[in-house]
Amino acid sequence: MKGYSGKILHIDLKTRKTRVEEKPEEWYKLWIGGVSMASRLCWENIKPGCDAYAPENPICIANGIFAGTPVPVGGKFGLASKSPLTGFLGDSLSGSWFSIALKRAGWDGVVLHNSSDTWVNVFIDDDRVDFLDATYLLGKGTYETEEAIREKLGDEQVRSCTIGVCGERMIRYANVTNDGRQAGRTGHGAVWGSKKLKAVSVRGTKGVTVADPKKLMEMSFHISKEAQGKDTEKYRIYGTATNMLNMDKIGLLPTRNFQDGTFEHINLISGEYLDAHHKVKVIACAQCPIACEQMSIVKTGPFAGAMTGVEYESLQANSSNLGISDLRASIKLLEIADHDGMDSMSMGVSISYAMECYEKGVLKKEDFACKEFPEGIELNFGNGEGAVAVAKMIRDREGIGDLLAEGTRIASKKIDAERGTESWKWAMNIKGLECPGYDARGLKTFSVGLAVGTRGGCHNRSAAYDPDIKGEVNRFTIDETRGKVAAESEEYAAVYDTLPLCKFIRRCFTGKADRAGAWPAIAQLINATTGWNYGYDDVDLIGIRAHTIKKAFNIREGWTTADDDLPWRWKHEPFTKGASAGYTISDEELAYLKDLYYQAKGWTKEGLIPKDLLIKLGMPDVAEQIGV
Ligand code: SF4
Repeated sequence: MKGYSGKILHIDLKTRKTRVEEKPEEWYKLWIGGVSMASRLCWENIKPGCDAYAPENPICIANGIFAGTPVPVGGKFGLASKSPLTGFLGDSLSGSWFSIALKRAGWDGVVLHNSSDTWVNVFIDDDRVDFLDATYLLGKGTYETEEAIREKLGDEQVRSCTIGVCGERMIRYANVTNDGRQAGRTGHGAVWGSKKLKAVSVRGTKGVTVADPKKLMEMSFHISKEAQGKDTEKYRIYGTATNMLNMDKIGLLPTRNFQDGTFEHINLISGEYLDAHHKVKVIACAQCPIACEQMSIVKTGPFAGAMTGVEYESLQANSSNLGISDLRASIKLLEIADHDGMDSMSMGVSISYAMECYEKGVLKKEDFACKEFPEGIELNFGNGEGAVAVAKMIRDREGIGDLLAEGTRIASKKIDAERGTESWKWAMNIKGLECPGYDARGLKTFSVGLAVGTRGGCHNRSAAYDPDIKGEVNRFTIDETRGKVAAESEEYAAVYDTLPLCKFIRRCFTGKADRAGAWPAIAQLINATTGWNYGYDDVDLIGIRAHTIKKAFNIREGWTTADDDLPWRWKHEPFTKGASAGYTISDEELAYLKDLYYQAKGWTKEGLIPKDLLIKLGMPDVAEQIGV
């Protein structure tokens, strides 16, 4: 087999035994890699109905088909487990030298079963697996852990995925980090912490064989050249932070916990302001010629010296969403999240939830008493110093930080039960995952994309906001086309997440990002790597299958159509100002959109998947378990 080793490595963290599973080529043709393969490994290895922190919830890692080849932005892997935030499938991606090392070590995927009795650093040294004591790494941040492992092993080429103290403490939205990039969202770091797994390190010294190296080189050269052109200029110069001004203009920039859609100090927190006052350099994921991550530093004030990468989603969650107009506090917040290993979006929304609780009298100053502020904190929106203190309380599980570390869904339920309040109405999550920076009240197509998302409140697995924002449809109204648009959008995204290729390359194949522009080129890349004979329809099926296995996993975990919902605020509270003022998504609208979406997918009215459809997609075993 070309492009793959054909081998999945199974590691038992408790017994410290390993086994090699050889998969047939037909299996790879179905699942390809990344999120799709990792999700399929979850389907095959996770005990249905188990708790996310149970030993029966293994960690599934799947490499990318193009990792270690010249294909630009193909150095990525998928990571999946049952999510402690949502109780459904948690699937993430990361661009990383880790994936390249894993490929060179000869593994297409790794499944880490069971839980270790003591803190461990699993070291995959080509064919050998060592279980190294990780006690000396405890308390270290994500980057420090990577460095300490390299130093200990005396090899600069060892690549690691690590957790920080937030993973150790099982902050429910902790991340896994590698090369300064995160496999973010859905709480993988907490699952790793529950298994006492501090890091997985890899040394890979073998080559990667592909079917047609000449063709792959030629195509990769062309794509890399295009990736330096105008189609990626936005990402290369300002990064995604440039979206701050755009979202404010259309009145959908999350502001003060999604109470407003415009921010009066937008010019002080824009990507352009960041570029002029804080940016020090840009960095890139492995194998990427674009480099979109804006490394930014704080030069003055109490947070001087704080430095981290900044992009739109993390920025909006920790600036306008907190009512903060001083980017120095926002950068400090992001540094805490990245260094200590938690999801900056969920952290920001958990803090904004707490701020609204404070302003509405649900939480009091003394509820925020901590070592740094023994009298408590007046946690009004805009209080940057207070927000930073609360981020540390979450990281340290100190005081009320212990509750906020559980995410907004669990925290609001507990607070409401204790205080007789209704703070769940402003707990901004979908299926337990905190909402992204695209307010669905003014993006009606995206509203259904968000509600039905298998991952919860996520902007990455569906790009149904695109037709809304670009004006291809009326973003304030609904019609019978929207279900199909949302379905096609998530399947399109799933193709990129499966290979995986960064979506920012999508216009660099032919200048057109649509299926007609990208699929023939992607098919050629797959064929040059594997020697297969993929065409347009096969590429389309990659996305449909990847999305279907995630949905099937959720159905097996007890999903019902009631789970496909939106936060109360988006359904009942319109904005009072800005370009999207006056709009909500009513329950009736959402029910209609969900019907259209299930229809477009070929599912039942209850959102279940017919057996014959699953069989047609090559999943007879799935059909047997959850098909109707
Ligand atoms: S464009 Fe940005 S996110 Fe995409 S691979 Fe490059 S650095 Fe990573």
